Amino acid sequence: MSVVCLDCVVEGGASRAAAGLVRASAWPPVCEWWEERHSKACREFFVDGWVEERVLSDYAPSPRLKGQVWCGRVELEKAVVFRVTSLPVPEFRSRWVVLAAGVWCDEVLGASGLPLTGVVASRGAGLLGPGGVEGVLSRSYRLPGDTRTRVMSMRPWGSGVRVGDSLPAREEEQLSEMAGWVEGERVWGLRPRLPSLLVQRWAPGVVVATGGYRNGLAVAPGVALRVAELVTRS
Ligand SMILES: Cc1cc2nc3c(=O)[nH]c(=O)nc-3n(C[C@H](O)[C@H](O)[C@H](O)COP(=O)(O)OP(=O)(O)OC[C@H]3O[C@@H](n4cnc5c(N)ncnc54)[C@H](O)[C@@H]3O)c2cc1C
Repeated sequence: MSVVCLDCVVEGGASRAAAGLVRASAWPPVCEWWEERHSKACREFFVDGWVEERVLSDYAPSPRLKGQVWCGRVELEKAVVFRVTSLPVPEFRSRWVVLAAGVWCDEVLGASGLPLTGVVASRGAGLLGPGGVEGVLSRSYRLPGDTRTRVMSMRPWGSGVRVGDSLPAREEEQLSEMAGWVEGERVWGLRPRLPSLLVQRWAPGVVVATGGYRNGLAVAPGVALRVAELVTRS
């Protein structure tokens, strides 16, 4: 297929902020169309980047392997290719338009007079810092006044490390927890959230793909396969 990827690169794009965690438990995601071949596409795409997740605890001197949970390290620059195209024409024609604009899908659909998906934004942030780490390390912590134990993870990121991901309501508190582990630059993005992962023919010639929420990266190869299935089954 011949594909033109148009991305106007708005601030807050989720894929650029994603941690690169690929949990096998993300397959299947919540949706009715996902089948084994979509999980297979994910396993095949990520298999080379898989690393073990280990738990760092205050009590154990060295990290312990974390049960059945496997994670992957995706080199985002390789996995997520954004080709920003400025077109010499104000308008062009294409057989299909695949709208995968994350939390901005409804902006585009609304401007086109099409029904909206109802996608909502869930902000998340993390820290990029110097240093090095083998595999993925997790550790648990509690925020002041909170009885819930939360888990934060650190993984290799370029020549340094990446820590975190915060939830919207407690971003500042969680970022200060992360800063106790590593000092570094903040990254943030808007996770597209829907009750279930949406990849669907939306109008004649239009496919919409959004709703990846916290696992959008992990499910991306399955989403890509589903999009290909929809546009070739005409
Ligand atoms: C801090 C953080 C950590 C995360 N960690 C993980 C993780 O470890 N593992 C995981 O699986 N998932 C993770 N996620 C979730 C994952 O990043 C998202 O689910 C996924 O990236 C969503 O991809 P998307 O393509 O739907 O949206 P996006 O990546 O947001 O892409 C939408 C794109 O549309 C473009 N756009 C917007 N409007 C227009 C327009 N009018 N015209 C053209 N282009 C437009 C934007 O520039 C953007 O690039 C994380 C998210 C965040 C924020």
